[in-house]
Amino acid sequence: VTDRTPLIAGNWKMNLDHLQAIAFVQKLAWTLKDAGHDYRDTEVALFPPFTDLRSVQTLVAADKYDLVYGGQDLSAQDSGAYTGEISGAFLAALDAKYVIIGHSERRSYHNETDEVVAAKVKAALRHGLVPVICVGETAEDLEKHGPSAVPVGQLRVALEGVPADADIVVAYEPVWAIGSGQAATPEQAQQVAGALRALLGELLSADAAAATRILYGGSVKANNIAGFLREPDVDGALVGGASLDLAEFASIVRFKK
Ligand code: PEP
Repeated sequence: VTDRTPLIAGNWKMNLDHLQAIAFVQKLAWTLKDAGHDYRDTEVALFPPFTDLRSVQTLVAADKYDLVYGGQDLSAQDSGAYTGEISGAFLAALDAKYVIIGHSERRSYHNETDEVVAAKVKAALRHGLVPVICVGETAEDLEKHGPSAVPVGQLRVALEGVPADADIVVAYEPVWAIGSGQAATPEQAQQVAGALRALLGELLSADAAAATRILYGGSVKANNIAGFLREPDVDGALVGGASLDLAEFASIVRFKK
């Protein structure tokens, strides 16, 4: 993948067991192949539940699919007495490329603070995983602080101690748009993505700002994806609900600007 190749990422959340995952990945790969999809034009990443990853790895390796995959979370620790946690080392051992960090559902249901997110970003980088760092404001934040302040503040903390040449992806996901059916407008997404890119320039380097992909997430569907990708600072999408509908997700991957 070269700099800022569009990335379409499907976050399955807690859906599809390993048998359903095998069927889904096979059908998706066939559908994209039939459509003549070139993964060098648009990268496709899947984020299944942890229990599916071994099956997905086996299938992708055996059938030489160009799909890539990752975890929906990881532990900030590398190993030890952390019952229920998953080490980045384990994800790397399954050839995961990416790991989602700081999804709004982790922040709200599991009390993940910006500091926890920062520790997890460092853990991902220690294990050679590309962190997909999620930031985004609630409706209340938007009203109180305007569009960019909260996501920019979250990213500022998440990037503490991250080297300027680190391979990262940023996902702007307004909480009010996730699963609500009410997506941001492309203009709203661009405004925040532009502010996040400026922060990458400030905290990392001009090169990092130019090379890092910034995704939009929140009620992305086949009928609105193209508008987001037309914006100069939006380089792809993190897709939740619509990533579980094979035809819909394949159409999102095959967006035309
Ligand atoms: C998400 O959870 O990352 C997400 C964007 O969900 P949805 O597409 O369902 O809004």
